[in-house]
Amino acid sequence: EAKERGGDSVVVFNDDLRSKILVRADLELRLRSAISNNEMRLYFQPEFDLRDGRMTGVEALVRWQHPERGLLAAEAFISVIEEINLSAELGRWVLEEACRQLAAWKRTSPVPPPLVRVNISAGELISADFVGFVATLLGRYGLAPAELGIEITESTVMRDIDDVQATLNGLRGLGVTLAIDDFGTGYSSLAQLKQLPVDILKIDRSFVSALAESSGDRAIVAAIVRLAEAFNLTTVAEGVEDPAAVTTLLDLGCYRAQGFFMSKPLPAQVVLEQARNPGVPLRMV
Ligand code: C2E
Ligand code: MG
Ligand code: MG
Ligand code: MG
Repeated sequence: EAKERGGDSVVVFNDDLRSKILVRADLELRLRSAISNNEMRLYFQPEFDLRDGRMTGVEALVRWQHPERGLLAAEAFISVIEEINLSAELGRWVLEEACRQLAAWKRTSPVPPPLVRVNISAGELISADFVGFVATLLGRYGLAPAELGIEITESTVMRDIDDVQATLNGLRGLGVTLAIDDFGTGYSSLAQLKQLPVDILKIDRSFVSALAESSGDRAIVAAIVRLAEAFNLTTVAEGVEDPAAVTTLLDLGCYRAQGFFMSKPLPAQVVLEQARNPGVPLRMV
């Protein structure tokens, strides 16, 4: 009897594993043609100055309009993109689409966002002639370099530090705004931070979402703000989900933020409504 049960569970395990492999293979196959099939979308999450509610920029976040599963957030597929070496291809699509959209906003809106920030992975950053590609895009869409922001995570900075540093210097040379994303979760040392040509530290949302209730999180955010001041950098908090976090960030001297409390990531047609109503969400504070 025991043998029978054991046999059963092996069969169950095999079926489970088999279906996981099939799901993964299907995901990979569909991802490989997703860009050429026009299935990728950009959503934009506004970033605000908490003091006056002014929109200080938007962050482009990729979504995949999956033919069967609907709109998928980046979290659901971005790691697979990297594993199957599509990050350079996706990165180029995202960068061009973000530039195209900002140029369109500038043509059609009296209040275009002041800049668009794009997330770039390590694989993209060190791909051949990345700086040249960015320069070409700025020219093609008539954008000033300061209107484009590039976000890299702390762990990206640590990978191939020499190649990354060279590319960042090239981007800085163009005048593009550079931000370290998810700051506080990686391993960058003060010595590295001192050398990196960055402008912005984006405070990871794990320190922000429960900020008002956690004295530990408050201490971490306070320390990051002081560190940024010492290096002449600006802080942007991510993951603001309630008015108490806004109040605490203002107390701590972090004046810029994104988060579901102000606005979720939105399709391009909707996002400018946020800019036309500056300060609306913040009046709730
Ligand atoms: P990230 O750059 O730190 O982006 C912020 C993520 O947090 C987004 O998830 C956003 O929807 C979510 N978020 C924003 N505000 C809040 C909030 O108040 N509460 C909570 N719980 N979440 C919030 P998303 O779009 O799923 O992106 C996840 C990550 O995937 C991004 O983290 C970024 O590292 C990466 N990613 C997104 N788009 C791209 C892209 O175009 N290229 C690359 N290489 N990576 C991307
Ligand atoms: Mg980001
Ligand atoms: Mg982030
Ligand atoms: Mg994050």
